[in-house]
Amino acid sequence: MKEITILSGKGGTGKTSITSALATLARNAVFCDNDVDAADLHLILKPTIEEEYIFKGAWEAFIDSERCNSCGLCVDYCRFGAIHPRDSAYDVNTFQCEGCRLCERVCPEKAIHSEQSIRNRWFVSATRFGKMVHANMLPGEENSGKLVATIREKARQIARLEKQEFIINDGPPGIGCAAISSITGTDHILLVIEPSRSGLHDAVRVCELAGGFNIPVSAIINKYNLSTELSKKAEAFLLENEIPLLAKIPFDHAFVQAMIEGKSIVEYAPASDISKRIQAVWEQIKS
Ligand code: SF4
Ligand code: SF4
Repeated sequence: MKEITILSGKGGTGKTSITSALATLARNAVFCDNDVDAADLHLILKPTIEEEYIFKGAWEAFIDSERCNSCGLCVDYCRFGAIHPRDSAYDVNTFQCEGCRLCERVCPEKAIHSEQSIRNRWFVSATRFGKMVHANMLPGEENSGKLVATIREKARQIARLEKQEFIINDGPPGIGCAAISSITGTDHILLVIEPSRSGLHDAVRVCELAGGFNIPVSAIINKYNLSTELSKKAEAFLLENEIPLLAKIPFDHAFVQAMIEGKSIVEYAPASDISKRIQAVWEQIKS
């Protein structure tokens, strides 16, 4: 079983369109949407949820106003400024709380307790292409890296059980916690580069990250015809760093239309030049 993670460095490169096209082509894969903060693969794969799990996230402190004597000690100790006066006691702003639990230990009245957030959910679903593992992380929630590790492990279990040959991870943008968690232990990274200054800059950062983990990378330049100058710069960067360029895909309104119809480009326009290029990418990744 091999794991392929699709990354872009930044959002808006068309990564999910590419991922869904590969999902259409892969006949023996489990799909995992690692972009837990802004998941969108479900818009095309249209999963039917079969299993739902609670993800226990970061710790949050709560103050029992009945027990609090307003001594203010917890405010002095909280390095994140998360505790504020409220009525005649104190209260924790959960958006500011980092869950260090120090206030719980220093409170002389034992008025503070902590709980792990249980607001986030993750799912195992059926799609028309195979099983999918995905999550719904609410805004302001933490531990996205841990959630990615959790859903990836589930995807591996399913792949082993169903004897699937591939796991295809739709990675998050950036090089943060969730991106690191997405690439740890993966077999290959497919980088989707958009020919813009930020697209190029962020692609370089992903390559540096992948280099640190010693994971082989190949690339697609998506929407290359939007800037031939920046596409050439991207090609030069790939050449210089010995990163195979698997395809250059032009911008085409068919991508947008496919999205509107909830289809992958390969489903929407199977005989198109773009679909053939993506088919060639999949063959190269497999080989
Ligand atoms: S340390 Fe405890 S008793 Fe003092 S203000 Fe904070 S919650 Fe209230
Ligand atoms: S758990 Fe830590 S961050 Fe949260 S309120 Fe207590 S001291 Fe502040």
